[in-house]
Amino acid sequence: MPQDSLEKIDRKIRKELDEERYRHTISVSYTASALAMCYETDLYSARLAGLLHDCAKCIPNDKKIRLCERYKIPVTETEKKAPQLLHAKLGAYLAKVRYGVTDPAVIGAIRWHTTGKPDMTTLEKIIYMADYIEPHRNKAPSLETVRFVAFRDLDLAVYLTLDDTLRYLDKGSGQAVDETTVRAYEFYKTLVEKRETLKQNLVIAERS
Ligand code: FE
Ligand code: FE
Repeated sequence: MPQDSLEKIDRKIRKELDEERYRHTISVSYTASALAMCYETDLYSARLAGLLHDCAKCIPNDKKIRLCERYKIPVTETEKKAPQLLHAKLGAYLAKVRYGVTDPAVIGAIRWHTTGKPDMTTLEKIIYMADYIEPHRNKAPSLETVRFVAFRDLDLAVYLTLDDTLRYLDKGSGQAVDETTVRAYEFYKTLVEKRETLKQNLVIAERS
C-alpha cells in the first residue's frame, strides 16, 4: 500500500539525514503534495519524490565521489569541484537500490531537483519548486514572489527560480554553475517569452 511504503521510507530516511535536513525533507514532501493537488498530478509520487529527493545529501562529499565510482555514475569536472551537486544523481540511484523505487518519473524528479533541466515533466517541476519554496527556506531573494507564482503558473515559477539561482551563483557565491542549469534557464526563458509574445499578438489580433 502506498501509505505504508511512505511511512516505511519516512522511518528509514530519518536515520540517514541530520535533523535540519529531515525537517526540510518533510516540508518538501508536503509542499510537493500541495503543488500536485494544484496541478492535478499523482499525490503519492510527489510525496515519495519529496521524501527521497535529498536521500544522498548527508553522505560526506568524499564518500559521494567514491559511491559514484563504485556504481559507475559519471562525475563531471564541475561535480568534482562541487561534490554536493552529486547528491541528486547519487540520490536517484539510491532511491532505486536502497528504497526500492521503480517509477522512472519519481527517479527523474530526484535526479533533476538541484540543477533543473530543459523541458521538465510536471513532477520534476513540482519537486524542483517544492525544494526551493518549502516553508523553512528563507534566504532566496524573490521567495515571496516565487511562492505566489508557484501555485499559479508552474513554468513561470521555474523560470524565476532558475533566474534567481544563476544570479546568486554568478555573484561570486563560490559555488560552481552547472551547465544543465544554464540550459534549463535558456529553455524556460524562451518558453516564457514565446508565451508573452503569443499573448501580445492575441491582444493585437482581438483589437484589429
Ligand atoms: Fe537537494
Ligand atoms: Fe532539498
